[in-house]
Amino acid sequence: MSMNTVGRPTRPEAPNDSEAGFTSLSGGRGLLQDEPLIFELGGWTKTGVDLPDAVAADGALAGLTRDEPIGLPGLSEPEAVRHYVRLSQKNHAIDLALYPLGSCTMKHNPRLNEKMARLPGLSDIHPLQPQSTVQGAIELMDRLAHWLKTLTGMPAVALSPKAGAHGELCGLLAIRAAHEAAGNGHRKTVLAPTSAHGTNPATAAFCGYTVVEIAQTDDGRVDLADLEAKLGDHVAAIMVTNPNTCGLFERDVVEIARLTHAAGAYFYCDGANFNAIVGRVRPGDLGVDAMHINLHKTFSTPHGGGGPGAGPVVLSEALAPFAPTPWVVHDENGYKLVEEAEGVAAQAFGRMSAFHGQMGMYVRAYAYMLSHGADGLKQVAEDAVLNANYIKARLSDLMSPAFPEGPCMHEALFDDAWLEGTGVTTLDFAKAMIDEGFHPMTMYFPLVVHGAMLIEPTETESKAELDRFVDALRLLAESAKAGAVERFKNAPHLAPLKRLDETLAARKPKLKWKPVAPAPLAAE
Ligand SMILES: *Cc1c(COP(=O)(O)O)cnc(C)c1O
Repeated sequence: MSMNTVGRPTRPEAPNDSEAGFTSLSGGRGLLQDEPLIFELGGWTKTGVDLPDAVAADGALAGLTRDEPIGLPGLSEPEAVRHYVRLSQKNHAIDLALYPLGSCTMKHNPRLNEKMARLPGLSDIHPLQPQSTVQGAIELMDRLAHWLKTLTGMPAVALSPKAGAHGELCGLLAIRAAHEAAGNGHRKTVLAPTSAHGTNPATAAFCGYTVVEIAQTDDGRVDLADLEAKLGDHVAAIMVTNPNTCGLFERDVVEIARLTHAAGAYFYCDGANFNAIVGRVRPGDLGVDAMHINLHKTFSTPHGGGGPGAGPVVLSEALAPFAPTPWVVHDENGYKLVEEAEGVAAQAFGRMSAFHGQMGMYVRAYAYMLSHGADGLKQVAEDAVLNANYIKARLSDLMSPAFPEGPCMHEALFDDAWLEGTGVTTLDFAKAMIDEGFHPMTMYFPLVVHGAMLIEPTETESKAELDRFVDALRLLAESAKAGAVERFKNAPHLAPLKRLDETLAARKPKLKWKPVAPAPLAAE
C-alpha cells in the first residue's frame, strides 16, 4: 500500500481489481487518483503568485522578522485546484447522491441561496460598519426574525447563536437568568429523555446543571409518569426534542408542558427536527418556552464537515426579557441593533458572540423561506415525512423498524434485530453502503435503540432517488441474510480508505505535518 509521509495510505485499495486480474500501473483507479498530501506536492521554493520582494520592515517588527522560509507548500493555481478537486472526489457529498444521515437533515441546498448570500451588499460588509450603511442587511435580519417568530408562534427570537448546540446554551442561559431573577437560583436540575441528542445533557452540564434522565416508553416517547415523578422544586428545565430523535412526534407534548410549568420549570425544546413540522405545528402553541432552530438544517445551508451553521432561539413571553443582545428594532429613522444591556435590554443575560451572528446563513434561510412561501414551507414538512415513511414502508419486510406501530415523522429508525445470526453488525452494514455509493445512515444513535440505523431522506429527494437508495439497501439486506459475511466484514472494498481507527484519530489526532526528511528549506 502506498503511504504518505505521516503514514496514511494514499492509494485506493482495490481487492476487486486483482480478483479480476487487473491492476493499473500507476496506482490510480480510474477517476479516483493517487493523491499525496499538499505538503508533499508543493516545492518550498515554488510559488503560484508573482509578488515583488517584501520591503525590509526591521524596525516595525521589533526584531521578530522571520529568518527562515515560512514552510508552506508552493503550488501553481492549477495544481492547487486539482489537488482539492481530487480530494473532494474521495468523499461523499450532498451534490453526488442522497445523504441519509439521520438527525443531520442533509438536504439539497438551492443554488439560489448561494447567489443571494454572495450579493456584495450582503457579503462584502463588515460588522463594525456604521449601521446607517448596512440598513438592508439589518432589515433582512428583522424579516428573518419575523418569519421565525411567525412559524413557531413565539414572541421573541435571539438570532446570534451560531449552531444548534450554541442555541441550546443560549436557551438555558436565558432560563437560568429568569430563575435567578425570580429568586429560584436553587433549581439546579435539568431533565432530558434517554434518547436526547448528546448536546442536550452536555449543554445543561456546561451551564452548571445536574442532568437527570427521563425514561422512555415502549413506543419511543417520554414516559409521563417518570417525568412527573422527577419534576419538583429542584428542576430548572426539561429538554425535549420534538419530533424526537426516534423520529416520532411526542403525542403528549401539551401535557409535558403543563406538568413542567406546574412544577415551576421551563420547557426547552430541541428544535433541530423542525423541518418535520414547519408550517404544520407552532411550538408556541404546544407550551414551549425556548427552542433553537438549526437554520442550516431546516432552512438549508451546506453543513457537515464542520460548519457553518446558525441556531436562532425563539423565546416565550416569560423568557423574552432575558434574551441576549443584540436584537433589531426599527422606527421612523430606520433599523438599529440594540447592543447594550440597558433600558429595555437591562435584563439581557449578555451576548452569545462578539457581533450579531451568521449573516450568510440568515440570507440563505431567508431566501429558502421566500422561495418556498408559506404553502411551500408546509409542503417541506409534508414531503420530509412522506419520504421517511416511504423508506420505512419499503424496508420493513427485510429490516426491523424500531417502532413498527404507526407512521414515523421525518426519519425512519431501524434496529439490528433483523441482523441477528447473520454475523453482520450495524457497522458492517453501514460500511457496505459505501461500496454501493451511498453515505451510511446515522448508526448507533439514538442510544435507546440497539444497533440503531437512523435514516433521514429529507424532502428534497425525488421518488426515483429514494428507489435507487432503497433498492441498494434491499440488495445488501438480502445479501447479509444469505450469509455473504465477507462482503460486509471487510467493507468498504472500494473506498480510498477502509476502516479507520476513529477512536485513535479522535484521541490522538495528528494535526500537524512534520517533514520526515531534513527540511528542504532553502534559506535564501
Ligand atoms: C443537529 C442536532 C443538534 C445540534 O446542532 P448543531 O447545529 O450541530 O450544533 C442538537 N440536537 C439535535 C436533535 C440535532 O439533530
